[in-house]
Amino acid sequence: MPKQTLTSTISKRVSAIAPSATLAVTSKAKALKDAGHKVISFGAGQPDFPTPDYIIEAAIAAAKDPAYHGYTATAGLPALREAIAAKTFRDSKYEVDPNQVVVTNGGKQAVYNSLTALLNPGDEVIIPAPFWTSYPEPIRLAQAKPVIVQTGLETGFRVTVDALEKARTANTKALIFVSPSNPTGAIYPKEEIEAIAAWAYEHDIWVVCDEIYEHLVFAGNEHHSVAALAPELSERVIVLNGVAKTYAMTGWRVGWMIAPPEIVSAATTLQSHQNSNVNNIAQMAALAAVAGPLDPVYEMREAFDRRRIEIYRRLKAIDGFKLSEPQGAFYAFASVEELLGRSYNGSVANTSAQLAEILLNEIHVAAVPGEAFHAPGYMRFSYALSDSDLTEGMDRLEKLINESQ
Ligand code: PMP
Repeated sequence: MPKQTLTSTISKRVSAIAPSATLAVTSKAKALKDAGHKVISFGAGQPDFPTPDYIIEAAIAAAKDPAYHGYTATAGLPALREAIAAKTFRDSKYEVDPNQVVVTNGGKQAVYNSLTALLNPGDEVIIPAPFWTSYPEPIRLAQAKPVIVQTGLETGFRVTVDALEKARTANTKALIFVSPSNPTGAIYPKEEIEAIAAWAYEHDIWVVCDEIYEHLVFAGNEHHSVAALAPELSERVIVLNGVAKTYAMTGWRVGWMIAPPEIVSAATTLQSHQNSNVNNIAQMAALAAVAGPLDPVYEMREAFDRRRIEIYRRLKAIDGFKLSEPQGAFYAFASVEELLGRSYNGSVANTSAQLAEILLNEIHVAAVPGEAFHAPGYMRFSYALSDSDLTEGMDRLEKLINESQ
C-alpha cells in the first residue's frame, strides 16, 4: 500500500484556502531586514506608534491581579462588553445591549466567527472588491460562495446598489460592507450607505460591516455606521470592530462582533471550543482603551493625515502611478498599470505582483500588490510608517521608476 503523501493528508477544505497575502509580504520584508537590509515597509497595516501608556498601565495592573489569572466568560469580560456597548453608542449612535457583544481574539476572529455562525453550504456572500484578504477564506471554509463585485478607481472604489442587484441571487445571504476600506481608503457617504441598507433590507440580506477603521477618516469625511443609519436592519446586521488600528494595539489581539442574540450565542459556542476566552490582560487593556478618551487617537490621526497628504503628493508626482486622494484608513491605493511591461534594473514587471517583488528585491521597499485584494494592476501603500521612512521610501521608488526602461 502506498503511503499517503503529506499533501493528500491535509483536509480539502483547508488546502483550498490561500495564505494571507498581506502577511506574506510583511514576512518577506522582515526576512530582508533580519539579513541586515534597511527595508522601508509600506506593507503592514499597522500604526508605527507604541500603544498609549495608560492602556499599558491597565494591562500591568490586570497582570498583577489574581482575578485575571483564571478562565473567564467566553463572550468576554462583562465590564469590557459593557464598555464596548457604551463606546458603540458614543461613536456610532448605535444602541446595543452588552449581551450583543462577543469579544474575540482580534478583529480577524470576529470576521471568522460571525461568518461561520451565519453561513450554510451554498450560501452566497457578496464582497465588493478590492477587499481585505481575510473575508473570502472563512466563507469558503463554511462551503459558502464569495461573489465578487468589482469596483475601480473611476467610481472611487465604492459599490453601487445597481452593481449589488446584478450580483444578487436567491442564495445571497450576506454582504460584506467595509468603510473606511482596506485596501482602498474609500469612505461611503451617508446617502450611499442608506441606499445599500435599504436594498439589503428589502431582500433580507445580512450586512456584515467591518468598522475597524472608523476613527481614521480624513479630508472632511465622516464615518457612518450602517447599523445606526438603518435601525430596521437590526436583526440582519453584524458589526465588526477592534482596538488594533484605533489604539495602535495590533499585537494585543482584541476585537469584537456585535450581533443579534442567535448569532451571539452561536459565535460564543464556537469560541468556547476555540479559545475559551480572550486573554484577560489584553481584555483589560482594551477596556482602558475603549472606555478612555479619544484624544490619543486624534493625535495619531493627525500624524496619519500629514503622511496621507505627503504620500499622495509623492505618488502623484511619479510618472506611472494613478490614484485619487486617500480618504480614510491608512492606505493609498494606486493603479500601476502604466508601470507594467517596463524593465527595472534589468527585471521586467508584467504584473503588479512582479512589480512588488522587484521593489522589494531592488530597492528594499515593501508594498502589497493588488492581487492580494482581488485587484491586479494596483498596489497598496500603507502610510502608517514614520515620516522619515516615508520620504526615503518615496525617494527610492521615484529613482527606480525614473530609471526604468
Ligand atoms: N478588518 C480590516 C478591514 C482590517 O484591515 C484588519 C487588519 N488588517 C482587520 C479587520 C483585523 O484586525 P485585527 O485582527 O488585527 O484586530
